[in-house]
Amino acid sequence: MTNKILFLIILVASAIYANSQERCGTAAINQQRMEKSSEYKKARDKVNNQTAKWIKEHPNYTPETTITIPVVVHVVWNTNDQNISDTQIQSQIDVLNADFNRTNIDAINTPNIWQNIAADCEIEFCLANIDPNGNPTTGITRTQTNTSQFQISGPSVEDASTGGKEPWNINQYLNIWVCNLGGGVLGYASQPSEFLSSNDGVVINYTNFGNSGNSNAPYHKGRTATHEVGHWLNLDHIWGNNNCGNDYITDTPKQEKDNNGCPGFPHNINSCNTPNINGDMFMNYMDYTNDQCMNLFTKGQKTRMLAAINEYRPNILTHSLCSGTANILETNTNKKEILKIVDVLGRVTNKQSRGMPLFYIYNDGSVEKKLIP
Ligand SMILES: [Zn+2]
Repeated sequence: MTNKILFLIILVASAIYANSQERCGTAAINQQRMEKSSEYKKARDKVNNQTAKWIKEHPNYTPETTITIPVVVHVVWNTNDQNISDTQIQSQIDVLNADFNRTNIDAINTPNIWQNIAADCEIEFCLANIDPNGNPTTGITRTQTNTSQFQISGPSVEDASTGGKEPWNINQYLNIWVCNLGGGVLGYASQPSEFLSSNDGVVINYTNFGNSGNSNAPYHKGRTATHEVGHWLNLDHIWGNNNCGNDYITDTPKQEKDNNGCPGFPHNINSCNTPNINGDMFMNYMDYTNDQCMNLFTKGQKTRMLAAINEYRPNILTHSLCSGTANILETNTNKKEILKIVDVLGRVTNKQSRGMPLFYIYNDGSVEKKLIP
């Protein structure tokens, strides 16, 4: 066999492999973190246990005021078409608001049998108009990069040292990075846990962001971000990432595996050896169907997301980052501030590596150990 033919075989094989990749990289990111640290698996198990407990203890929870998630969109671009327009970015914020508040125009496409469990999640989104220094902002950052393509396995778009952009305070903002994302992945997200992670947030490929501009069919209606923000708020895939696995949601039917394209209803009747005349809820945002065929979160998913906000992302409940009137520095005066960050040898550092614990020393005398698995 000549080298040329061998090269062609490898090329074709890798193209097939790329096409068979998962469109969402969240499960892969979780897997990577678990392989790097057994602590991460424990942390995620703890999240699942604590979430079940919180839901049990708050059976009739409704938020006191409207929950608005302050978003910063980091556009990290190498070619001009990756530097997407403000209009395309705003179209994504609009889709998130419609999908999470059940004002999406395709809500009527949810099969009748599930209309009564389709949820208005009562979660809103805004482009932040106060930045971490208390200054006015559009909620959009733009970074030109020499990195032509980012990957889950690196180069990482959340890391300035690999051509990416460092996040704004992950405890206060939902950081969304938009870039040229490779590996056949449309997006990925960090699910909550007690690990501080400098890449906490959501990453979306620039041709699958929003519903205008460079957004490409069939993932051109902004549902990749809806799906990934679902993960960021602790939702799992509707099939539980396993054949007939557990998504920790009681009102979604058990599902054998992911669905693609745009199936007709009902689809996969009586799958997973259960009597289920309605089949899969393939139009759920946490499945893999085409953007135009997705149209609901369930009430069970809403409850799990509200639990995640209360337990793991509580700063979302009280902030002024969208009003443009308050200064974040003022609102922070009663909160503890970091004096310095040191490594295990006591050396001051501001760069956290995976697997290396760092110690955060605060002005109130407290110390926290933090680790990226
Ligand atoms: Zn996913």
